[in-house]
Amino acid sequence: MTYVVTDACIRCKYMDCVEVCPVDCFYEGENMLVINPNECIDCGVCEPECPAEAILPDTESGLEKWLEVNATFSAQWPNLTRKGEQPADADEHKGEEGKYEKYFSPEPGQGD
Ligand code: SF4
Ligand code: SF4
Repeated sequence: MTYVVTDACIRCKYMDCVEVCPVDCFYEGENMLVINPNECIDCGVCEPECPAEAILPDTESGLEKWLEVNATFSAQWPNLTRKGEQPADADEHKGEEGKYEKYFSPEPGQGD
């Protein structure tokens, strides 16, 4: 199994998660992060750290799409290990529905 980042992260991108991951397996897109499922050791420490509740274990049902998004884009986006500045309007998008359809970007972030 692995943990996956879901669309609750899109445009929130608080980055509290990257600070606690012991194996640095978060990757940065333009407006969300993903987890590399091959590197995640399933420790679960990132899940409660996310203010947007965007991180879930893939043992929960209905996450196939997110597993695919995490696997695909973690291979394309740069690694991120330190918390940066969150988007200025992050709180406005917290809890918003349908963010993948509205805002998902396949473009990479800056990483570190
Ligand atoms: S803490 Fe949550 S919202 Fe912030 S970057 Fe990590 S997964 Fe995304
Ligand atoms: S579950 Fe652990 S290893 Fe996996 S992404 Fe979260 S902190 Fe990193």
